[in-house]
Amino acid sequence: MSLAKLIGKFALAPLARALPTMSETERAALEAGTVGFEGSLFAGRPNFRRLTTLGAPKLTPVEQSFLDQEVKTLCAMLDDYAIDSARDLPPEVWAYLKEKRFFGMVVPRAHGGLGFSASAQAAVVTRIATVNVAAAVTVMVPNSIGPAELLAHYGTEAQKHYWLPRLAVGTDIPCFGLTNPYAGSDAASIPDRGILVERDVEGQRVRGFLVTFDKRYITLAPVATVVGLAFRAINPQAPEGQQDMGITCALLPVPLQGVEIGRRHRPMDAAFMNGPIRGHDVFVPMDWVIGGETFVGQGWRMLMECLAAGRAISLPALGSAMQQVSLYVANGYGKIREQFGMPIGKFEAIAGQLAETAVRLYATDAARRLAAAELDSGERPSVASAILKLHLTEAGRRAVTCGMDILGGKAIQNGPSNLLSSAYRQAPIAITVEGANILTRALIIFGQGAVRCHPYVLEEMRAVAAQDPERLGQSLLGHIGHVLRNVYVSLLALPQAPDAPTALRKEARLLTRLSAKFALSCDLAMGLLGGRLKRLELLSQRLGDVLSALYLASAVCWRYETERDPAMLPIARAALRQQLRQATVTLRDLHENLPFGARRVLSWLMMRGVWHLNPVRDAQWMAIAHQLRTDTKVLARLTQDVSTPKCGGLRDLQHALALYEQLGAEEVSRLTQALRKTGSIDAAARVGTTPHSALNYLRAADKVIQVDDFAATVEETTTATRPSKGPLSRRFDPAAAGNVQAHAKNPG
Ligand SMILES: Cc1cc2nc3c(=O)[nH]c(=O)nc-3n(C[C@H](O)[C@H](O)[C@H](O)COP(=O)(O)OP(=O)(O)OC[C@H]3O[C@@H](n4cnc5c(N)ncnc54)[C@H](O)[C@@H]3O)c2cc1C
Repeated sequence: MSLAKLIGKFALAPLARALPTMSETERAALEAGTVGFEGSLFAGRPNFRRLTTLGAPKLTPVEQSFLDQEVKTLCAMLDDYAIDSARDLPPEVWAYLKEKRFFGMVVPRAHGGLGFSASAQAAVVTRIATVNVAAAVTVMVPNSIGPAELLAHYGTEAQKHYWLPRLAVGTDIPCFGLTNPYAGSDAASIPDRGILVERDVEGQRVRGFLVTFDKRYITLAPVATVVGLAFRAINPQAPEGQQDMGITCALLPVPLQGVEIGRRHRPMDAAFMNGPIRGHDVFVPMDWVIGGETFVGQGWRMLMECLAAGRAISLPALGSAMQQVSLYVANGYGKIREQFGMPIGKFEAIAGQLAETAVRLYATDAARRLAAAELDSGERPSVASAILKLHLTEAGRRAVTCGMDILGGKAIQNGPSNLLSSAYRQAPIAITVEGANILTRALIIFGQGAVRCHPYVLEEMRAVAAQDPERLGQSLLGHIGHVLRNVYVSLLALPQAPDAPTALRKEARLLTRLSAKFALSCDLAMGLLGGRLKRLELLSQRLGDVLSALYLASAVCWRYETERDPAMLPIARAALRQQLRQATVTLRDLHENLPFGARRVLSWLMMRGVWHLNPVRDAQWMAIAHQLRTDTKVLARLTQDVSTPKCGGLRDLQHALALYEQLGAEEVSRLTQALRKTGSIDAAARVGTTPHSALNYLRAADKVIQVDDFAATVEETTTATRPSKGPLSRRFDPAAAGNVQAHAKNPG
């Protein structure tokens, strides 16, 4: 008997007991997608060469032109406050979205869509979201979990032929209904049932399902003309215990007999469409099942495969937009707004927050672009997608909150001049959808990573399931070698990172060592706790956090290498050190919490050789903040997707900042000093070297500093007025601007 078989024989029974039990749906979720760069972090050897060969994400000329023309035009049609007040996009925006095939970015060109890459889709959504989240969500949904993606991958030829061209040009507006009042995060447990039946339809016997369902929170449902529906298929003729055929996805054209659709939820009063869909004994012929009869019961796997890619694009794009716009706005306002005789952005407490926001944006955006580049190279990295979903949306929320604090009362007064309030209100939506963040952090990142990315665990699970001692033994022998190597690299070796960018080599070496320590810690935790680790969410959350920090740190190396912009080095280095410190501290907390007698010694051993890099010092934070204030190219690189809306606070700020740059900081300082002394914009402008430009700037800055006020009566609160005595007063009336329209089902 071979050594492998002998080891496998001894290990089979104890491993079968230790491994967590797994349902088919859990298995499908765990096995969905592919493993990207993050697999090398699990192996303890970050593969910087893979990152270098991946290169920067590239857009085709058609994609670039779409961003420069169509997206720019769309943004110039968007008035955030008017859309928010009307709770819908204006009809001309709906029409433009359809005409320019924004809903068909994911639809292949052969079927009339734009067939855009992941990088292009992400860039489109990010740019729109910097001016209006509702428009971005409206574009995002048909291009993510909307049925187009499912149809393109699994649809029958007839289904693709019929639906894809209609979805591409918005003849049909789709939505996708999975969530049920009793199955949210645990979506695989949906109680919605479809009973297999035969019906007479136009003189023919037709097989299909009689479906009863209750769906809620469904984006675009109130205006949808086709509903993607997930339900559990049941065959009552099958023997007891075999009747459940599994989750099945079908397309229902609406209106349809038995389907109630059209009512709205009010998710944080956002303007995008969202509502419930209910159906009672709705007949769904087999032809409507996505992929036809052979795909009955395959719905969960199909959804998980699509999510593996989609989660890396849309919500991370929203998170990036929130960070970019918050940094742009808070940094800009920090230059214009003065208190105690100084621009508020120069106060250390504010400068520190701005620098931190910029550094986090650099790291998270690096990860977002890296994942898009991986998607475009053919990967569908499910674990990286979960990391992105969590960290981009969290960083988005954090940046908006920080921006609100910096803006003070200006951020709190609602109205067309407000710069952040609608993003602030809507931030929790991104946190909750497509895998709520608490669950993603506690369960998905490490849980899925441990199975998919670990070089041996999945093979061991398969060998145990197949009761194959030889296969198990071979995998265990490899696993032992893997552990020994990681012990060596973690504790004794001086890791090198020859393929990392030279300027960041010192940090990259620590990243390599931390990766080996992380890999060792995973094996230790899994070895000590076995299947129990799945329920010890605080521990698996920490393992996921370390993996995330290492992934973000690696993405920083990749971004710095591909952009090759030395001006970004201080920000890149701070971003890398911040993530490495996060990984180190979390790793220490993990070891402190492992239920293991000798953990103090172990923790001391594991944490050797990782504290030698200094944290980012105050002086470095201040230098980064100074760069943000003075080097417009650095800020522009970080906030390159911030677009120009039709009107409103953001546009006013962009205008004032352009005038500020023409005058320069010193001249602006003289002017604001004069304004404080004289109390008159006209008098202060006369002090300027070029009084005309000075007057223009002071007026534009005043517009940024002022907030809106409204008539006291409830009926008139949509009509905002600037202070009546100032020379700059104006009235804002969204209805007069033609942006308020009655809510209409099936717009356009
Ligand atoms: C604005 C909006 C738009 C949406 N659009 C759609 C759509 O178009 N189609 C669709 O089908 N659905 C949609 N959803 C539903 C969305 O996907 C769900 O809200 C989400 O999956 C969470 O479900 P839930 O809200 O029921 O929360 P619950 O499942 O009740 O979760 C509550 C809390 O428990 C946490 N939690 C749950 N399980 C665990 C666990 N095991 N460990 C740790 N924490 C856990 C969650 O993280 C969350 O914080 C949308 C939701 C919103 C708010």
